[in-house]
Amino acid sequence: MKIAIDIDDTLSNTADPLFSFYSLKLGKKFKREDHIQYELHKTLNCTREESRKILNEFHQNGQLGEVLPLDYSIEAVNELKKKHELFIITSRPLQFKQTTFDWIKKHLPIKESNIIFAEDIYKEGNRKSKANICKELGINIMIEDAAHHAIDCAKTGIKVILFDNPWNEKLKHKDLTRVKSWKEAMKSIEKTGKGSTKRSSKT
Ligand SMILES: [Mg+2]
Repeated sequence: MKIAIDIDDTLSNTADPLFSFYSLKLGKKFKREDHIQYELHKTLNCTREESRKILNEFHQNGQLGEVLPLDYSIEAVNELKKKHELFIITSRPLQFKQTTFDWIKKHLPIKESNIIFAEDIYKEGNRKSKANICKELGINIMIEDAAHHAIDCAKTGIKVILFDNPWNEKLKHKDLTRVKSWKEAMKSIEKTGKGSTKRSSKT
C-alpha cells in the first residue's frame, strides 16, 4: 500500500513544547486540552499574526527541530517501510522546510523526495491540499491528527487513521479510525491491508 503520514502530533509531540512556548511568550498558561479547534490563534486568544510570529520564534530557537518522536512512532515507520511505500505530507510553513528535512533524516528512513509540503491554513505558496496530494499519489491510508485534513481525505475515499486529540474529538466519518497510539495505528493499518484489493498477491 501507499501510506502518507503527517508530522506534527502524528510522528512527533509538537503540541506540548509549543504550548509551553506560547505560555511563556503570552504570559498565560495554555495546555493541549485547551486547544479544541485547529486555528491556534483562537485558542491563544491573540491575533493570527502574533500566533504566527511566536511559531516562527519556536522554529528559530531550534525547538521545532528538537521535538520528540511520539512513542513507538519510529519503530512503527521502520516496520511499515518494509512492506509499504511511505510519504510524509505536512502543512508546515515552507520556511521550516530544511528543519523538517533534517528532523526526518535524523529519525526516519524516508528520502526528501517523499516529503511533501501541502497547503497550510494561511494558503501560502500555492500548494495543494493534503487530500489532492493523496489522490494524485494514489495514497491508500493517511495518518493524521488535523480534523480538516482528515475529513477532506476521508471524503475522497482515502482511509484515515486519526490520532485522537482535543482538537479533533468531534470528528466522525465511516472511513476514519481514531487511535490513541502507534500500536493501535499499526493494528488498523494491518486490518486495512488485509481488506485492500491493492495488496500484492503471494504467488
Ligand atoms: Mg499534525
